[in-house]
Amino acid sequence: MSIEKTYVTYNQVHKLCQEAAPKILDEFRPNLMVAIGGGGYVPARILRSFLKKPGSPNIPIQAIGLSLYESLKTDADVEAPGTKVTRTQWLDLSSLEMATLIGKNVLIVDEVDDTRTTLEYAVRELEKDVREAQEKSGRQGEKTSFSIFVLHNKDKPKKGTLPEEIIHGRYLAARTVGDDWICYPWEALDIDEHDRLSKAQEQK
Ligand code: 5GP
Repeated sequence: MSIEKTYVTYNQVHKLCQEAAPKILDEFRPNLMVAIGGGGYVPARILRSFLKKPGSPNIPIQAIGLSLYESLKTDADVEAPGTKVTRTQWLDLSSLEMATLIGKNVLIVDEVDDTRTTLEYAVRELEKDVREAQEKSGRQGEKTSFSIFVLHNKDKPKKGTLPEEIIHGRYLAARTVGDDWICYPWEALDIDEHDRLSKAQEQK
C-alpha cells in the first residue's frame, strides 16, 4: 500500500496561520515563540505578522532544532524500535536566552504533530530547563506557561504525551488530518510542480 501524499502550498500555510491567529491572541496571549526547526520556522514567521498588535513590538522567535530517529538498541528492539529525539540546536542554557522564557507565555510552533514524540520532548525539556533557570536566578515565583500551535495534527494513536493543561486548552492545530504524508512547500525542489499537484488535489 503506497502512502498518500497531500501537497500544501505557501498560500495555504499563510491562510492557516491567519485563521489561527485570533484564537492564539485571545487564548494563549504569547509573548515569545519557540519554533521547532525546520518545519516550525516558516509558520512561526508568518504567524508573527498576524499576532502583531499596532503599537506593540513584534513577538520574538527563538529557534530550536530537534531531530527524530528510530534507534535499535538490541535485536529485540527490531520489532518495536525506540524513537529518540536529539537536540541539534537549543537555547543557550547558561545565558539570557533561557531567562527570556521565564514568566512568559511561550508558544511552541511546529508544522505537524505526527507521533507527538517531538512535541513531548520539546515541552518536557523546555519546562525542565526553564525551571532550572528560575531556581538559579531566584525567580521561582514567576509563572511560565507553554502552548502549542501546529499546522496539522494527524488523527492517529500518539507515542508521545503532552501535559493535560496543554492538551485541554493550550493546544491548537489549524487542521486535523488523516495519516497521509504532508508535503510542505519549503521542502519542494520544484515549487511550480508542487503547486500544480496541490491544485489537482483540490479539484478532485
Ligand atoms: P513527530 O512524529 O515527532 O510528531 O514528528 C516528527 C517530525 O517528523 C515532524 O516535526 C516532521 O518534521 C516530520 N513529519 C512527520 N510527519 C510528517 C509529514 O506528513 N510530512 C512532513 N513533511 N514531515 C513530517
